[in-house]
Amino acid sequence: MRCPYCQHSDSKVIDTTHDSHGGIRRRRECKRCKARFSSFERPILATPLIVKQNGTREEFNPEKLERGIRIACAKRPVSAEDIERLVGQVESDLQKLGKAEVSSRVVGDLTINGLKELDQIAYIRYAIVYLRLHDLHALQNEINRLLEG
Ligand SMILES: [Zn+2]
Repeated sequence: MRCPYCQHSDSKVIDTTHDSHGGIRRRRECKRCKARFSSFERPILATPLIVKQNGTREEFNPEKLERGIRIACAKRPVSAEDIERLVGQVESDLQKLGKAEVSSRVVGDLTINGLKELDQIAYIRYAIVYLRLHDLHALQNEINRLLEG
């Protein structure tokens, strides 16, 4: 933390206080000019790394998720705004988990649950790919579950 008075880069922390939002305020004293000043740090939530089925890791890619959702929503009454909101919701849910990495299944589950609320046809399309519904029977089971729920 650079001293705002003399630009010296080394300061001593005199006091640390935490606020209720996870922010940290530090009282500091410049080691050169002895001037006192405060710094404030606010944590930024990080999105966990995604662990794929094959064990490799990749960064969460909102554009890729949006593409997948858009394909499922083709010709359905779902607006671009709804899709963007769902992607944003999935990302913020991932951040709230507070983990360094999560399985790609978690991303899929969050997405599919969001789609279920948005549009049932889009949900079924996504489910065919994501839940690997190989045959009509598996598909029928899923549809029955939807109709009952
Ligand atoms: Zn200074």
